[in-house]
Amino acid sequence: MRFLELAETLDKIENTTKRLEMVDLISDLLRHTDEDIKETVYLLQGKVAPDYEGLELGIAEKIGIRALSSLSGLRENEIETELVRKGDLGKIGEELLHAKKQASLFSEDLTVRKVYESLLKISKSAGEGSQTRKLQILLDLLHNAEPVEVRYLLRIVTGKMRIGVADMTIVDSIAVAFGAKDKTDLVESAYNIMPDLPELAYRAMAGGIDSLSSIRITPGIPIRSMLAERLPSLKEILERMDGRFAIEYKYDGLRTQVHKIGNKVELFSRRMENITSQFPDIVEEIRKFVKVENAILDGEAVPFNMETNEMLPFQEISKRRGRKYYLKEAIERIPVVLFLFDAMMLNNKSLMDTPYANRRVKLTNAIEESDKIKIAKSRIVSDVESADKFFNEALEAGCEGIMAKSIDDKSIYKPGAREFLWIKYKREYQLEMEDTVDLVVIGAFGGQGKRSGGYGALLMAVYSREEDKFRTICKLGSGFSEEQLDNLPRMLKPYQLKKRDPRVESSIDADFWFTPSLMLEVKGAEITLSPTHTCCLNVVKKGAGLAIRFPRFTGRWRGDKKVDETTNEQEIIEMYHSQRKKILADYA
Ligand code: AMP
Repeated sequence: MRFLELAETLDKIENTTKRLEMVDLISDLLRHTDEDIKETVYLLQGKVAPDYEGLELGIAEKIGIRALSSLSGLRENEIETELVRKGDLGKIGEELLHAKKQASLFSEDLTVRKVYESLLKISKSAGEGSQTRKLQILLDLLHNAEPVEVRYLLRIVTGKMRIGVADMTIVDSIAVAFGAKDKTDLVESAYNIMPDLPELAYRAMAGGIDSLSSIRITPGIPIRSMLAERLPSLKEILERMDGRFAIEYKYDGLRTQVHKIGNKVELFSRRMENITSQFPDIVEEIRKFVKVENAILDGEAVPFNMETNEMLPFQEISKRRGRKYYLKEAIERIPVVLFLFDAMMLNNKSLMDTPYANRRVKLTNAIEESDKIKIAKSRIVSDVESADKFFNEALEAGCEGIMAKSIDDKSIYKPGAREFLWIKYKREYQLEMEDTVDLVVIGAFGGQGKRSGGYGALLMAVYSREEDKFRTICKLGSGFSEEQLDNLPRMLKPYQLKKRDPRVESSIDADFWFTPSLMLEVKGAEITLSPTHTCCLNVVKKGAGLAIRFPRFTGRWRGDKKVDETTNEQEIIEMYHSQRKKILADYA
């Protein structure tokens, strides 16, 4: 097929906002294609390969500008100025080369195949001299292009297809082109487990639309992740789940789909991009601790402080993204733990139709837990109170809430679906407490890894003046410099005790105890209900205390204050209430 036909269809799509019209245009185009159907669909999407193969097109706009300059005779900086003004290199190229084209006699028609193959060469070209090679290929294409072709060539090649034909529009178009509208569900189900539209279009054309029903999940090809609905309260969740459900920690990190094929491991994001190269540490762990030959697993990768055994705020993980050059350093600085919560395939056997409870058992049997690979925490609950306790435990551990999962026999893994088989319940929280607090060290935990020999974390308390008691509010392991960590044992030695100070009330057993003396300024994300800490126990809620979520040392030692000036319980309660008021106001 001529590339012109595709470019003209893209132009028409650009000029309509009606989805049905788009579907008609694309399905017409697909019916016209033949052996180049895959290439046609790739170009419609502005791609040369599925996202999960990680072949990026997007050449720098600079090369496009250079090509236009050499073909039009205009200076590069003039084109740049134009680009700042108009923001669309495609349109600029179309206008510039319009006059030129009419004068040129020595051009040949561009075909979809030729364009696709040239773009593929561009995307694979790397290393020395690659910029010149890319420019040459682009020049060759532009030289032969009609004005409207120039527009789309430049947009595709710079990764800026502005119309962006949505995947679901192409799904509908395949159904209409090779079957009928009522085949949309069939195409969509195939797409959910093989998100490669060119391949699906080809199979529908070659084998008939019904042949798509024989597609199975395949290690190496990501499937669309199952999603969760939401409900505003645990009570409603319990009702919806018929009085009993599995409750899991909802980890706050990066959704990660694991594919293990023998010794080869690939990781995909929720958007099905290949993220393997960012997590070589996780890949290594999977090789060691996933004890089956082939597997497709679902989980969440969470930034983690290995010394204190604490989850870190999700934002930390973004420091790992796109860091090719500093990856080694990033792996050391920002370790990641993968919490697995599902298994969609084990040893080539699909578990997609196996009920959740069985999948969980199979997942647990297939994995040996390690420092960096763990199974998501989960429990079966049948009353609101236990669910609420688990929810608070999850928040305190650094999670953003819980996931409720149906344990009904119909609770299968539904790729791409957002239904009530999974229900999320989370509380939006502030990223920063408004104020700092001054807390006193009452205990410490031995460090591991880099912190071995010293302290991994400190146990911190607030003070109750009326009762002369110190009650725990958090473990503190973040915010210290190496030097401060090294100094801690020396600073705390004078206060060390053989057992807990009688004024200290703690349900946590520390490795070391101290006379409350050393005070530190601490900031956190928010104050949460806590099933473990004794600060304000039973005050806000029966059986619960209050804790600081994501606490970190601000760097300020409060040697200027006396220990009875430690932030007191009353202040913590006030902070908790004012923060709740703010959260409620945010919801309103
Ligand atoms: P949301 O992004 O708020 O719609 O919540 C859904 C996301 O929660 C999923 O895409 C996962 O990345 C994440 N998640 C964390 N823990 C779990 C879990 N135990 N089960 C399922 N999803 C989880």
